[in-house]
Amino acid sequence: MPLLVMKFGGTSVADLDRIANAAEKVRREVERGYDVIVIVSAMSGKTNELVGWVEQTSPLYDAREYDAVVSSGENVTAGLMALRLQEMGVPARSWQGWQVPIKTTSAHSAARFVDIPRENLDAKFEEGMKVAVIAGFQGLSEENRITTLGRGGSDTTAVAFAAAFGAERCDIYTDVDGVYTTDPRISDKARKLDKIAFEEMLELASLGAKVLQTRSVELAMRYNVRLRVLSSFEDTDENSGTLVCGEDEIMESKVVSGVAYSRDEAKMTLVTVEDRPGIASAIFGPLAEAGVNVDMIVQNISERQADHEAKVTDMTFSCPINQVARAQKAMEEAKARGDIAYDDLIVDTDVAKVSVVGIGMRSHAGVAAEMFKALSAENINIKVISTSEIKISVLIDRKYMELAVQALHDAFELEKSA
Ligand code: ADP
Ligand code: ASP
Ligand code: MG
Repeated sequence: MPLLVMKFGGTSVADLDRIANAAEKVRREVERGYDVIVIVSAMSGKTNELVGWVEQTSPLYDAREYDAVVSSGENVTAGLMALRLQEMGVPARSWQGWQVPIKTTSAHSAARFVDIPRENLDAKFEEGMKVAVIAGFQGLSEENRITTLGRGGSDTTAVAFAAAFGAERCDIYTDVDGVYTTDPRISDKARKLDKIAFEEMLELASLGAKVLQTRSVELAMRYNVRLRVLSSFEDTDENSGTLVCGEDEIMESKVVSGVAYSRDEAKMTLVTVEDRPGIASAIFGPLAEAGVNVDMIVQNISERQADHEAKVTDMTFSCPINQVARAQKAMEEAKARGDIAYDDLIVDTDVAKVSVVGIGMRSHAGVAAEMFKALSAENINIKVISTSEIKISVLIDRKYMELAVQALHDAFELEKSA
């Protein structure tokens, strides 16, 4: 039997009517002759509520119990989806992660897949089950504890199942009808893309476009999964939505293909650290050990150079805003141990990151200059810059974030197709 993977995100299973609507889409594919693996998220808002309950109960929570609690939202929707399908006359069964069993690493709240054995599901498909409904976002560690895959992780569950079962396609049903040149909620000029290259989608996702979890794109690229994003609220067919695919399948080619943003950034500066070999390692080693995901880094000679005997430098880095407390603690401990010395630790939590992405940048000069010009025309000050082969990111004051996204979308004429 040909097999499809269909994933429904939180807003697509937000209540019983929406679950019924999603189930109807599944039923249609079964009628077309497919076996289907359905991956469901928790009802929208549920995971946030569960995270809130954990944080209220235990601010520095045990990660294993965090996973035990926040994985539960998906269990509810998986069971309800199976029931709804059964009511429609479709032979369906739900599976929690441990029942498959979905084997992952033990990195709680950021676990990675190790193995998805096929035997249990295959046996049921052979017995006549048409739809396996899988609770997304969760798995089982080697220690037999429940794990979760990080926010947005059901996308990755979907792609991993598509790879493990050799699905014809992996369809990600969500509340927008595809991948856009930027978040359609920020810019009404955002344009839907028919296709986007894996590498571009990977950058956009990792730079904040939450339409797909980064890891899901990585897996799809590695295992050559045909990955599609489409709307669960509209009638759809084989040509709907956006196909995430190899570069060779893409005809359209603009230098910049999308703008991404990330609101939840913070900037930290260690003022006047010694400028000596090993200093970066003495700072970023403890940060890594504390689980801080450092993103951008700038080292610049301190303006207060004259006050110091030795050569000194300022070290600036960015990290997610909810890791600031951990980062501060790690730096203070390193200072107390005498591993580093600094005069001040300045924290700026009112920043956002805005990025432009495009594989065309590889062969095109001047994109950075054009980006900075567009921001300067809006009087937006750039605090930190970082670049790679196919993206340029800037850190700016958060209050200018939407303006910056719109200005860059205009500057690179993304509303027009190539
Ligand atoms: P789901 O609950 O279905 O997983 P998400 O909220 O995780 O949905 O992702 C869909 C959202 O991603 C959209 O509502 C949209 O606001 C946001 N988004 C951000 N960037 C983009 C983009 N470039 N294209 C489409 N959607 C985007
Ligand atoms: N429910 C989880 C979250 O909100 C996983 C997902 O929906 O993909 O992050
Ligand atoms: Mg999502």
